[in-house]
Amino acid sequence: MAFQKKTIRDVDVHGKRVLVRCDFNVPLENGVITDDRRIRESLPTIRELLNRGAAVILMSHLGRPEGRDERYSLKPVAVRLGELLGREVRFAPDCVGEEVKAMASALKPGEAMLLENVRFHEEETKNDPEFAQQLASLADLFVNDAFGSAHRAHASTEGVAHYLPAVAGFLMEKEIQYLGRALADPSRPFVAVLGGAKVSDKIQVVENLLPKVDALLIGGGMAFTFLRAKGLTTGRSLLDAESLDFVNSVLVESPDKILLPTDVVVADSVDSETGTEVRVEEIPEDKMGLDIGTATAATFAARIEGASTVIWNGPMGVFEKEPFSKGTKAIAEAMARCQGVTIVGGGDTAAAVEKFGLADKMTHVSTGGGASLEFLEGKALPGVVALQDA
Ligand code: AMP
Repeated sequence: MAFQKKTIRDVDVHGKRVLVRCDFNVPLENGVITDDRRIRESLPTIRELLNRGAAVILMSHLGRPEGRDERYSLKPVAVRLGELLGREVRFAPDCVGEEVKAMASALKPGEAMLLENVRFHEEETKNDPEFAQQLASLADLFVNDAFGSAHRAHASTEGVAHYLPAVAGFLMEKEIQYLGRALADPSRPFVAVLGGAKVSDKIQVVENLLPKVDALLIGGGMAFTFLRAKGLTTGRSLLDAESLDFVNSVLVESPDKILLPTDVVVADSVDSETGTEVRVEEIPEDKMGLDIGTATAATFAARIEGASTVIWNGPMGVFEKEPFSKGTKAIAEAMARCQGVTIVGGGDTAAAVEKFGLADKMTHVSTGGGASLEFLEGKALPGVVALQDA
């Protein structure tokens, strides 16, 4: 499946001021960046633009500040980006206004600057047209490379594209191509692995994926609603009662495609120091299931290793806690061993794969949690729709 939008390859950027929306929404602890993957993933686009003689004006959001809040300043990102690029990245004290405009006008070809957090202005998330126009007034061309924010129609992702010629960056293109190809024309067997807490969050993903996949492996908290629908007692495990009807209907429609856990790790609570493995028919009334068991992990792993395309979204258990992390780790290891195309949805799943040191072993680890989920739901992403067609 070809990417349907223009990219920076299709436009002349020499001598132009180019406004680039990145996803620099990185985790910070006391002002220190704890994971710079999103910054590193943005480098190919930024380098290309600089090398081709553009003056590059970068913008992003960081966290969910309410108004101006220095804890959410992008300053540390400007510093880190400068280190990675090996050249100075100027930092603007705001993203709009006269001072920022003057800085942008003074920027020369081959130079880069980063604007302060666009979410310091409430107009950003409201997709305010005047605010979008002010952002657009800084440049001659807009590049959207923020896949992780593409599911939001905000001023810096969607609004600004109405006021400037708008094309995709390399990261945006790469994300859409990997996910798009897997969904539209997968090499088979095509296996999807879903986990995480709530079925209701993934109903549309299940609906969109089921007709396309050869097998759907379900673990994590959401598996217990499926087990309950099959008539098992699941003790104090997570139950998404409102999704029971939906789960019943897909189990009736596709009984052979859906694989559920046959054993799980149960404990008193997420804070328990150990768990006990039991068969799913034997979950005690007073315990909760917090991970898939060894037999399930082996069955899932075999399916994954035998697949030509695997998409994984959602951890198999409470992987943040060591006693309940083994199932998620086993799936990550099976993905790493798989010779086919392996794609990890962003968010928690990407964090898990990163934690186990296996991110480099995957074909593609998405930088976007919500965005990749919406893509897997089959939804159009507003930040992509707004770009010029190829
Ligand atoms: P989601 O955002 O829906 O992908 O859910 C991710 C969260 O689900 C992680 O924080 C996991 O700790 C949690 N989770 C996974 N399995 C279970 C489980 N069996 N019981 C409770 N929470 C779980």
